[in-house]
Amino acid sequence: MNPSNLSSLTLAITLALTLGLTGCGGSEDSTDVTDATSSTSSTDTSTDTGTDTGTEDLGSGILHTAYYEFDDNNVNVVLSGTKVVIETNGMPNHTSPYWSASNELHVEPTVTSYAKMAPGYIDDFVGTYTLTVDNSPSQATSASATGLGAIGIAVSGAVIYNDEEGPGIPLDGAAGSLDFNGAHTGPQSYHYHLEPISFSEDDSNLVGVIADGFFLYGRKCNSTGTYPTDLDASGGHTSITQFAQDAEYHYHIQNELYLGSYYILFPGDYQGTASAIR
Ligand SMILES: [Zn+2]
Ligand SMILES: [Zn+2]
Repeated sequence: MNPSNLSSLTLAITLALTLGLTGCGGSEDSTDVTDATSSTSSTDTSTDTGTDTGTEDLGSGILHTAYYEFDDNNVNVVLSGTKVVIETNGMPNHTSPYWSASNELHVEPTVTSYAKMAPGYIDDFVGTYTLTVDNSPSQATSASATGLGAIGIAVSGAVIYNDEEGPGIPLDGAAGSLDFNGAHTGPQSYHYHLEPISFSEDDSNLVGVIADGFFLYGRKCNSTGTYPTDLDASGGHTSITQFAQDAEYHYHIQNELYLGSYYILFPGDYQGTASAIR
């Protein structure tokens, strides 16, 4: 990993921890503050080097357990009251031909080729993406269209895009540049358009969280072990999952072939209220 990227992430995490504790201490309930101080929080903060970012629960609520699936090194998740703040360095935790040749996760292209690949390496990106969503999101009264750029954060650490490559430009023309995870670089960081088989291939695994706070799962649903048949236009439905004992709304990668052998991650509209990913 790029050292400057790591240090900016560390700074952001420290800030997040500080803000989280300040928010907690400044809130209405003084007994709550005592609880937080006497538990792991304060010691943890002062000794944390920032290398083990992981998932923190600094609020009094319970963070949705699905968030514990996100990569500990790339993604930091903080529960703050009823909100969840997800921050990532944008890096995927798996191999790709889009890593620069000197990176240990670099592999030769298989479904694409060096000639077809988009310009730029994964490790060129220096920055972070932050998304703040409700810990228990609800569906909006009407659906809203996704836009260009990041529309979700995957469990790997990289971001999720929709099925467009530019304003009104369908993905098809750029499909040849996608690696075996249906992802490529540019104009900012490495991002997925298609089923990312490094962590979800024809299964019910958690893929990531969409900008409206709903989780995106693989093509199968854990509630039945097979392809759901009751999906709405966005690939969503309400059922239990491996991370929710009570039925809750979530999305699936729709089991509809794209270009003969791929599956688009999220071609539909948001069914909740989306927040910007910055
Ligand atoms: Zn793209
Ligand atoms: Zn499901």
